[in-house]
Amino acid sequence: MRVLYWFRRDLRIRDNKALIEAASKADKVAAVFVIDPEVLRDRKMNFDDPRFIFLLDALRNLGSKMRLHVLYDKTREAFEHLLGRYRFDAIYTASPLSWHEDALVQEIKDVCRRSGVRLIEIIDNLLADQSSLGSPINFTMFYRKWRRLVNAETAGEVPPDNFVEIDEPDLNELCKRNGWRIPEERIWRADWYSHRLQSFSYKKYAATKDYPYLDGTSKLSPYISLGIVSVREVFNRAVRFSEEFVRQLAWREFYYHLKRRYPYMRDLELNPRRRGIMWENDKYLISAFKEGKTGYPIVDAGIKQLKAEKWIHNRVRLIVANFLVKDLLVDWRIGEEFFKEHLIDYDEVLNVGNWQWSASVGVDPLPIRIFNPVRQAEKYDPLCLYVKRYIPELTDHECERIHDPIRHRIRGYYEPIVDHNEQIKKFREMVSQVKESSTHH
Ligand SMILES: Cc1cc2nc3c(=O)[nH]c(=O)nc-3n(C[C@H](O)[C@H](O)[C@H](O)COP(=O)(O)OP(=O)(O)OC[C@H]3O[C@@H](n4cnc5c(N)ncnc54)[C@H](O)[C@@H]3O)c2cc1C
Repeated sequence: MRVLYWFRRDLRIRDNKALIEAASKADKVAAVFVIDPEVLRDRKMNFDDPRFIFLLDALRNLGSKMRLHVLYDKTREAFEHLLGRYRFDAIYTASPLSWHEDALVQEIKDVCRRSGVRLIEIIDNLLADQSSLGSPINFTMFYRKWRRLVNAETAGEVPPDNFVEIDEPDLNELCKRNGWRIPEERIWRADWYSHRLQSFSYKKYAATKDYPYLDGTSKLSPYISLGIVSVREVFNRAVRFSEEFVRQLAWREFYYHLKRRYPYMRDLELNPRRRGIMWENDKYLISAFKEGKTGYPIVDAGIKQLKAEKWIHNRVRLIVANFLVKDLLVDWRIGEEFFKEHLIDYDEVLNVGNWQWSASVGVDPLPIRIFNPVRQAEKYDPLCLYVKRYIPELTDHECERIHDPIRHRIRGYYEPIVDHNEQIKKFREMVSQVKESSTHH
């Protein structure tokens, strides 16, 4: 049997169930990854973007362990080319998890069908079998059920000589052809996870995870997102030390569970009473937010971290997302898109789910959560270490003044673009209007 393996977001040979299944069906497997210019465009990714370099780095590491071919083409055209040129009996790939991948895999399935080739999807990259989860609708119920279903048994590694070469480029060739480069100095290194997995202090996680000035979260999200590390490996490493950490892995699967149950949540609020809010979407406020010039230093620092590192600490993601939606009265979909264009750990389902949660339009059992950016900054960045790291021009200012820009104007810094308390009143009003109209109809 001649098998082609299609890598997407499972860039590893260790504990890769779909790859192992493919290798068990054939003596030799040809393996490809397709860099799709449409995906790069959709995520506004240039060739010198840390996210693109991270992807190349991950492909280079994978390619050093096996024969990996990399194509730079629209995915559909790449497969039409491959299926026209070689004879495969089947294509194996991991089951898609996001909407974007669902559509892509469906498209390639059609291409395969026309060529008489089977496309076989293997479920992986999850700790619990989604089909056994039933239909819990809040996280607490989900977590209880999910925890009992976790199966973190790892699956070994496919030996490198199981892979066969075909007449297609490898990453090296592609880099030469297109002038792509992986610079020695880079923020995210694709092999860093193995060190981090061992050295991260899971024991302290519950105490440190909310403080953005500390190195208190694992920073494994970019690796989990591209499947460079398997979630089972992460779970096995963490479970002895921190149930709180395991809970975070459960959040990841909770959002996939919601997506499976409510596929429309990509564009529509999960909470029917929060649909049709008349967002203000003020262009001036949106651009001040995107440029990190809101006058609320904790928000601006978050945007600066996002742009510089392509990653933000979770606490600050919550603060900026709440601020955009509830203080600036901007549609959460605009925030979701903005994160999509920057995050190195971008995951369509987690991003949509978390934006909905932050906007109080998702499945959060609390009616409306308000994050006061001043109180949040005081509590989670009490010495302004985080803010000053990303906004060095505030170094000499007193922390108390930095935290509360409404009460203390900061000389030489942007004036606050809105007043938190006034805006929250407006937000509540906007939401209550929807409630009224939905009860009338
Ligand atoms: C508005 C908003 C948008 C987000 N968008 C994304 C996204 O596109 N991609 C993404 O991976 N995460 C997203 N998150 C979730 C979370 O912020 C990141 O997963 C986390 O900050 C990654 O850092 P870490 O690996 O150090 O996390 P840790 O605290 O070390 O957690 C370990 C792992 O658990 C998972 N996890 C943690 N928190 C969450 C959560 N709230 N939801 C789902 N999974 C979680 C991640 O896989 C993470 O790597 C978003 C959160 C918010 C509030």
